[in-house]
Amino acid sequence: MERKRVRGNTFVIEAPAELIPCYQVGEHEVILLDSGYETPDREALQALLDREQLQVAAVIGTHIHTDHSGNHSYFQSKGAEIVLPFVEAAVGQSPLTGKLAFFVCSPGQVETLFGSMLVKADRVIFPQETEVSVCGATFRIVNLPGHTAGHIGIITPDDVFYVGDALMSEDVLQKAKLPTSLSYAMDLESKRKLYDYRCDAYILAHKGVYEDITELIDCNIASREEKVREIAGFLQEPMTADELSQVVWRAFSVRTRQPARIAVYLRNLHCVLEYLCDRGDVERHFAEGVTRYVRKQTSGEPAVNSG
Ligand SMILES: [Zn+2]
Repeated sequence: MERKRVRGNTFVIEAPAELIPCYQVGEHEVILLDSGYETPDREALQALLDREQLQVAAVIGTHIHTDHSGNHSYFQSKGAEIVLPFVEAAVGQSPLTGKLAFFVCSPGQVETLFGSMLVKADRVIFPQETEVSVCGATFRIVNLPGHTAGHIGIITPDDVFYVGDALMSEDVLQKAKLPTSLSYAMDLESKRKLYDYRCDAYILAHKGVYEDITELIDCNIASREEKVREIAGFLQEPMTADELSQVVWRAFSVRTRQPARIAVYLRNLHCVLEYLCDRGDVERHFAEGVTRYVRKQTSGEPAVNSG
């Protein structure tokens, strides 16, 4: 793992699957913005910190997910202050509250599959707060909910905007079969909100450092809308959620056998379905104990199976 300077005291640590931003507050002290995966990141991250004679004084987290909060508890046990957005601090409290992020899982599954993301925060950032001071440095906070319920972006004192998982780079987007948006509506709104910022640089967790993100925002919005359109297209005839899951699983060539990835897939598909229903593109019909979903016919569209 390497640490590279972005601007002033703002650096990024290059982990295999994500960038971990890092702000230097003293000769030997840093604040991490998120903390990476427990496995495989912890060992290499600690080795880098040892090599550079750095201590983690605090972690400011964007949201509770295994690849972003996997080492919060570890650094907390070594004396770091864990600062989280209010809603994410609630999610991280226990396997039961972790269900708020993984509603398809039982508390037992949350503990087994995603336990490393859980942490009891030392301090919370309330949604109405626009900045937070940590170790004498002031960070601007931007609410970017949608990817998760309390997801935030963080602007360092060097005017570097860490957008967390609100945006993905083009190559990561192309590989993502069914990306995570707990609320598509709010996630799209948060992505559009990013058009209003003019910062010196931007860090995307997955993955890169950019000076201009305008085209990237366009691309992220278009990609989400395309996924949603594609999935709506499968609902020409009424299907249960499980039937749709089978169709999408095959169409998107999802082949994972890992229980955690399967849980993420099921949750993410359900979030698309909720979005389509809320938007009125898909209707839910409940009969005889079974819910089926079907695309709503718009005027001018040929009737189902009309040939
Ligand atoms: Zn995430």
